Amino acid sequence: MKKIVVLGGSFGGLTAAFELKRLLGKEADVTVVSDDDRFVFLPSLPWLIMGWRKPEDITLKVSDILKPRGIEFIHEAAKQVDPEKSKVITATKELPYDYLVISTGPFLSFDEIPGLGPDKGHTDCTFTLDHATGTAQKWKRILAEPGPIVIGSSQMVSCFGPSYELVFEMDAELRRRKMRHEAPILYLTSEPYLGHMGVGGLGRSRRLFEDEFAERDIKSLVNQAIEEVTPGEIKLKDGTTIPYKLAMIAPPFKGVPAVMPLGNPRGFIPVDKNYRHTKYKNIFAVGVTMAIAPPEPTPVPVGVPKTGFMTVKMAKTAAATIHADIKNITPPAAAEIDVVCLMDMGNTAAFMKASPVLPPRQTSVTKKGIWAKWMKVGFEKYFLWKMKNGMSNLP
Ligand SMILES: Cc1cc2nc3c(=O)[nH]c(=O)nc-3n(C[C@H](O)[C@H](O)[C@H](O)COP(=O)(O)OP(=O)(O)OC[C@H]3O[C@@H](n4cnc5c(N)ncnc54)[C@H](O)[C@@H]3O)c2cc1C
Repeated sequence: MKKIVVLGGSFGGLTAAFELKRLLGKEADVTVVSDDDRFVFLPSLPWLIMGWRKPEDITLKVSDILKPRGIEFIHEAAKQVDPEKSKVITATKELPYDYLVISTGPFLSFDEIPGLGPDKGHTDCTFTLDHATGTAQKWKRILAEPGPIVIGSSQMVSCFGPSYELVFEMDAELRRRKMRHEAPILYLTSEPYLGHMGVGGLGRSRRLFEDEFAERDIKSLVNQAIEEVTPGEIKLKDGTTIPYKLAMIAPPFKGVPAVMPLGNPRGFIPVDKNYRHTKYKNIFAVGVTMAIAPPEPTPVPVGVPKTGFMTVKMAKTAAATIHADIKNITPPAAAEIDVVCLMDMGNTAAFMKASPVLPPRQTSVTKKGIWAKWMKVGFEKYFLWKMKNGMSNLP
């Protein structure tokens, strides 16, 4: 029986574990190691901040969903991977593996910018359930005592969608309450232009976002790197200072410390088209933790987003490749990775699709309509149901 260890219990880790067990059954002993026993449907965190979702609406207990499928769960952080001896080291265990799948997501590197972040700094964040819960409290305070709002992304970020969603959602909610004039909104970003999103834009995303920002009186500053944050003020590298009452700034992304040595200088893991490590052939990396080179140089460095949609596809390819290795059959043909994204805009939403994800592309679309919002709500329910029931074979 082959021993397969999966690091991470989220989009990539759970999908890989379910797929490996489905494909290999009793031929594989699959163990998921995660420092969090919760699966959080991260795309709904902006709604949680807005007060439109509660944590229990978007959270599943990982141990509860893995056990019925015969997958072991270890609720611990991996401290280190020893690729030469093929073992994972946690605080209390050494776990040998025949194959390792890494899907440990981003390390949120707040410390790279003095004063950034909710724990040691002065800004809020959207990227984890705990951070979003704290930000929801700050948002309530803004509604009680309005003031300038700054939302956006620092240098080296590779996830822009949630910041755009929050800009549009806060704008819509403030208008609904007839108090938009009391809370100026600034979108501050490392992207070279609005709608770039780390992928050189999708279809008419630049024009759409520029028009929406103009119509909604949302100011923007692009091509910006942050020097430091102090209480009530953001200082940019070019010397500009920006006042804020609520600042929600995405931090630089890195790989998590346990897998840093397997990756490039920022800890993102180099893989081939089947998500196999370029050096260690029994290690696979999917989702945010794997490395994708940016499509073009930008004045301020930005990373390529690896969305939930992309991560699930990567995890399926990695699992099918491991299955093929074990069965000694031809691995699946390496497919170009594409992306579909549903972005909430408060009172409407956008559907975005790019195939492949980086230019030049066969398809590149951004369309706006309330129908995209209903698709997003439906997708949230569907994906949580799919994960709860381990139905990873479904699209
Ligand atoms: C606010 C927000 C909104 C988003 N909106 C969308 C959207 O609308 N559409 C979309 O497609 N995508 C969206 N995304 C992106 C999507 O959530 C990510 O692509 C997806 O979560 C990536 O999955 P992952 O498994 O690579 O990493 P993650 O989801 O980050 O999971 C990493 C896992 O690894 C675990 N872990 C970390 N370190 C260790 C360690 N040392 N040992 C063991 N376990 C560890 C963590 O606890 C976690 O379980 C959004 C993301 C955020 C944050």
